[in-house]
Amino acid sequence: MARQKARTPGFATTCIHAGQEPDPSTGAVAVPIFATSTYVQEGLGKNKGYEYARVSNPTRTRLEQSLAAIEGGRHARVFASGMAAVSALCTMLKAGDHVLCSHNVYGGVPRLFNQILAHYGLEFTYADTSDTLAVERALRKNTRFAYVETPTNPLMSISDIEAIARICHKRGVDLVVDNTFMSPYLQRPLELGADMVVHSTTKFLNGHSDGLGGAIICTRDDQAEQLAFIQKSVGAIMSPFECWLVLRGVKTLEVRMPRHDQNGREVAEFLAGHRKVKKVFYPGLASHPQHQLAARQMRGFGSMISFETGSLGNAKRMLARVRVCSLGESLGGVETLISHPATMTHAALGEKGRKAIGITDGMVRISVGMEDAGDIIADLDQALDAM
Ligand SMILES: *Cc1c(COP(=O)(O)O)cnc(C)c1O
Repeated sequence: MARQKARTPGFATTCIHAGQEPDPSTGAVAVPIFATSTYVQEGLGKNKGYEYARVSNPTRTRLEQSLAAIEGGRHARVFASGMAAVSALCTMLKAGDHVLCSHNVYGGVPRLFNQILAHYGLEFTYADTSDTLAVERALRKNTRFAYVETPTNPLMSISDIEAIARICHKRGVDLVVDNTFMSPYLQRPLELGADMVVHSTTKFLNGHSDGLGGAIICTRDDQAEQLAFIQKSVGAIMSPFECWLVLRGVKTLEVRMPRHDQNGREVAEFLAGHRKVKKVFYPGLASHPQHQLAARQMRGFGSMISFETGSLGNAKRMLARVRVCSLGESLGGVETLISHPATMTHAALGEKGRKAIGITDGMVRISVGMEDAGDIIADLDQALDAM
């Protein structure tokens, strides 16, 4: 008798079903929000696996199963925000340990590293991780993590995950990749050799700009155990309601990301062809210095675009005119968000810090949403006329 081969579920099926099986006690198709702080115990030392909500919550368990499956990891642990996840990651280290970080990352990351965690004896240095040799040179004897964001924020520079993983592993260093900008649909860091992936679930995973959260997806049991201990001890966990929002959001990840990607390409092409736009930073353009690497490493180019208007005045004038695009921080939602890195997301770096990595006062960043591309382009077109 022919036996049916076990079929590996596809990405869309995983997004919809992994961790999202119907509730065994009621049959509810959507994972319930377990709004409870504690669980009744049948007797001393006898419980159903849940004792107190800081330690564990069934809605959270389901989200952790879902994200581990979607990112292709072994386990996931979720936190109150992306920054809470990065902070939890660093509490896996001890005083004297060193972290090598990509030199233009989400602005909150160097703020946490330099202005808080450096006071606890951790060492942080920064390198242009788009240059693999620079990574090799920057590793130290006490380096525990290489922390890489690719594409970077807001300059969209690309780091070669596979090459960096090889260098790190030769030296016993774990590679951590912030995959927030791409989502597991467009980029698969763990398959390229990364040891852990970080997400701000606030962005594409949730996808609807209505919840805050962070996740770490692990490849080893010891990482997940240590992070569960950190969740319990520090307590910066994701609430059941926010977990539920992400569980709902990821169900459509496989349809949202190709649309973001397609709209991103169209908007980038439009900007690249506009006479008032001085420069466009988007890995999907053939003019991007790492276009080939991006095409090889990612399944698409995403919807994050930065461009140069030439001056603070120009940026101000155009940002005052947008109507379909909303002026605001954050990214990855269904609506197009437009922002000004120098005064918003990267203000904390200071003028010198921004100049060092190439963020100018005239730079504008767009997170292209899922509206009709023609409407986004028409809006940008009329706003650019103000310059
Ligand atoms: C937003 C963001 C973070 C921080 O996440 P929060 O949920 O805002 O705390 C980290 N990394 C990247 C790339 C981000 O875009």
